[in-house]
Amino acid sequence: MSAQREPSFRESVDLMFNRAVSVMDLPPGLEEKIRVCNATYTVRFGVRLRGKIQTFTGYRSVHSEHMEPVKGGIRFAMSVNQDEVEALAALMTYKCALVETPFGGSKGGLCIDPREYTEHEMERITRRFAYELAKRDLIHPSQNVPAPDMGTGPREMAWIADQYRRMNTTDINAAACVTGKPIHAGGIQGRVEATGRGVQYSLQEFFRHPDDVARANMHGSLDGKRIIVQGLGNVGYHAAKFLADQDGAKITGVIERDGALVDDKGLDVEAVRNWIAGHGGVKGYADAKYVKEGATVLEKDCDILIPAALEGVINLSNAANVKAKLIIEAANGPVTAGADDVLRNKGVVIIPDLYANAGGVTVSYFEWVKNLSHIRFGRMQRRQEEARHQLLVNELERLDRYLGDSWSMTPTFKDKYLRGADELELVRSGLDDTMRIAYQSMREVWHSRDEVTDLRTAAYIVAIERVARSYRDKGL
Ligand code: GLU
Repeated sequence: MSAQREPSFRESVDLMFNRAVSVMDLPPGLEEKIRVCNATYTVRFGVRLRGKIQTFTGYRSVHSEHMEPVKGGIRFAMSVNQDEVEALAALMTYKCALVETPFGGSKGGLCIDPREYTEHEMERITRRFAYELAKRDLIHPSQNVPAPDMGTGPREMAWIADQYRRMNTTDINAAACVTGKPIHAGGIQGRVEATGRGVQYSLQEFFRHPDDVARANMHGSLDGKRIIVQGLGNVGYHAAKFLADQDGAKITGVIERDGALVDDKGLDVEAVRNWIAGHGGVKGYADAKYVKEGATVLEKDCDILIPAALEGVINLSNAANVKAKLIIEAANGPVTAGADDVLRNKGVVIIPDLYANAGGVTVSYFEWVKNLSHIRFGRMQRRQEEARHQLLVNELERLDRYLGDSWSMTPTFKDKYLRGADELELVRSGLDDTMRIAYQSMREVWHSRDEVTDLRTAAYIVAIERVARSYRDKGL
């Protein structure tokens, strides 16, 4: 089987796209227009560091501009390349359409190992990269809005926002040029945990549907389910922690760069995370069994597998041996197209990336709206009941005018807004609504069409239909 060539990440996304369009009725021209990446900008720039000029290569790819701004993170990693950013940009298009955030898809990356540089050096490199992108409108509140991804976080977003502001001193909406900023630099409560929280809400929604759970050869609730998490970074850590602390799940394995930890009784996620922070890896952690060949733990018996790190970790070399009944893709593209076929034929249910990790961009959307509205969410909390209600109605009307239909997606959010709930509560309820509604739209297709046998194809169908509708509405 391993003699079969594994497609590249971008080819893999295209294969999944093609599988969906093969059961849709799209005109061939439109199909191609949606699939292809519109443009990828490559930049090479020099920064003087430690007495000599070092050259860096970065990318920003725009997959689809059916809605603007386009949206997607910026990744800092040595493995970044054009194929990867294009695949990730395409996934952003479908992800945003699926959860109804009014954005097109984009993604960026810089080939760098952030661990090799000091904070001051990282700031200079990030600002220079941001300058190169902003001067071509590849960072811009109404055209292209980056966010964190692997290797970046609130710190990098603050530098990017400040760089944009310096270049556009009269732009009153400058703060909306990037999301995932620290709270005091225009960020929103709950953004750091958002992707992991979204993974939790996805699983909660899945387990609300006993017939879906049965399709994964399980029954009951999340309580007591054995979960293996690959990658205890921002996404994997939050997902594992929430699922263990709030849903009674057992984290029976954690796979990291230097090996894995396993414990059938359930690992203490917080303690493992602290150990990694202090020791650079999982090795040496005393309260669990250490497995040097971490990747073998992907094949260990469990109920749910959460790949939360890199793309392509479940591929033709290991898919047949995976024992999990349910895989939830917290990372982008962790299952290759070939592995997807193998797993589908084995009856493994996969909750696909474009849905499962959409919590990040959903809360980014709330942050962007907050920045554009120039009103702090929940500001009116301390006001008199009646006066407060009227003011909030006015705020909402203003947002409604600005955002149109896309705003109506979160009824609970709207309701809480009118009651003046505080920001974190608003973010959580808005995210929960979004994840429930998007799951149901995917599930509808999964259950109602015989030719659709998996959630991924269903998710692509819903997303592609929405992108196609938006092109048609524009008269294309
Ligand atoms: N990088 C995240 C993703 O892959 C978040 C993107 C965003 O918030 O724009 O979905």
